[in-house]
Amino acid sequence: MAAPNPTTSGADADVIVVGAGPAGSTAAAYLARAGLDVLLLEKSTFPRPKVCGDGFTPRGMKQLIDLGIDCSEQNGWLHNKGLRVVGGGVTLELDWPTLASFPNFGAVRPRQDFDELLVRHAEKSGARLHEDTTVTEAVTDRGRVVGVTGHVGKGKDKREVTFRAPLTLACDGVSARLALSLGMGKRDDRPMGVAVRRYYNSPRTHDDYLESHLELWDRSDPANPKLLPGYGWIFGMGDGTSNVGLGILSTSKAYGSTDYRALLRSWLEGTPEEWGYRDENAVGTVGGAALPMGFNRVPHYRPGLLLVGDAGGMVNPFNGEGIAYAMESAAIASRCAVQSLARSGASAEAALAGYPAAMSQALGGYYRIGNIFSKLIGNPTIMGMATKYGLPRVTLMRFILKLLANLYDPRDGGVSDRVITAMTKVAPSL
Ligand SMILES: Cc1cc2nc3c(=O)[nH]c(=O)nc-3n(C[C@H](O)[C@H](O)[C@H](O)COP(=O)(O)OP(=O)(O)OC[C@H]3O[C@@H](n4cnc5c(N)ncnc54)[C@H](O)[C@@H]3O)c2cc1C
Repeated sequence: MAAPNPTTSGADADVIVVGAGPAGSTAAAYLARAGLDVLLLEKSTFPRPKVCGDGFTPRGMKQLIDLGIDCSEQNGWLHNKGLRVVGGGVTLELDWPTLASFPNFGAVRPRQDFDELLVRHAEKSGARLHEDTTVTEAVTDRGRVVGVTGHVGKGKDKREVTFRAPLTLACDGVSARLALSLGMGKRDDRPMGVAVRRYYNSPRTHDDYLESHLELWDRSDPANPKLLPGYGWIFGMGDGTSNVGLGILSTSKAYGSTDYRALLRSWLEGTPEEWGYRDENAVGTVGGAALPMGFNRVPHYRPGLLLVGDAGGMVNPFNGEGIAYAMESAAIASRCAVQSLARSGASAEAALAGYPAAMSQALGGYYRIGNIFSKLIGNPTIMGMATKYGLPRVTLMRFILKLLANLYDPRDGGVSDRVITAMTKVAPSL
């Protein structure tokens, strides 16, 4: 139990968490378990849809297990054993590595279902959830964030609200409204992605592997097809549908000028008819959103405020995975917050300043390399060469899987693990 904090008197909570996605619900659960009074503010009401690939690598599963979530198949998780990579005329099935640090299975689970499971877990841990509550800006006092304002409800029922707390966690996703209200823009020298997805009824709904297609061609100008930096995915959901989508990096010339929905359609038209990825089998519409990568919004700490998950640009620039990193940053932020709220003065401040330092230590070197990688594959020649010469080499691809999915043992792994660890240590942290 954290000691009661004198600065909390007159406040509405010990901590305000804005946004109940994976980052917010994870942080709220950890903070409430530590005995803090947590107010979790969410603009929508659960269950609510969320545009996503619904895919979890072992890195995501580790976070869920740490949090105490039952990740068994009986509890609705559809496990997978690795990644199937398709491209350069080759198909490779790469099993998730066996490591001390991570389980050797991934999973799929619809976000509509997953996000509700996680927010209920936070409530059971003691967090107070306020749904239908949209935060519009931070309340500051002499440069310090001391709360948030916003509104509850919509239309004529809309009512302004203000909540105060000694600490606020911005977990409001890629829109990052709270950070923007403080003038904290994104860094344009760090990568962004755009991803779109759609569900289709498909005989491929049962699949032991997450499937990724590394060759995405933009054929809108048939005379001049372009290889794009990104990949397509096909994830069997086990319920009769597949989640099919694609993501593109901001580092290519095509970014911003590409019609992503048309690109998805033209890619899927090239897949076998019997897979079913045609308009007549579609369930729902095409949904899309931006992916903030490689710490593209910093600093992650301002007095009274921590940026967590997509709000802090935590998506992995190598593979577009965001859930694991939202949860990981939430766990780290919570530890710093708990320490800070049990202290006062400079010591409390030092605990909070420890958050960006801990994030940098955990992911800074790796994301630095990821940001360089994203720039390199933004060049179609390099992307083409990587697909052509890299894919047919199985040992190289096993190494690449560990690197791209951030699945290696920093301390006691094999040769490839030691190489990746050394690379992340040599790269200056972000
Ligand atoms: C098409 C697509 C496919 C993807 N596929 C995958 C995948 O397969 N695997 C993976 O790991 N990642 C994937 N990602 C990335 C992943 O979805 C995100 O990284 C992840 O959801 C980030 O979690 P978060 O909690 O930081 O933000 P979010 O999940 O965006 O949650 C933010 C929450 O804050 C709420 N909110 C926002 N603004 C406010 C406000 N002003 N006031 C109150 N509440 C607010 C929102 O309603 C939401 O509940 C994908 C992304 C896209 C776009």
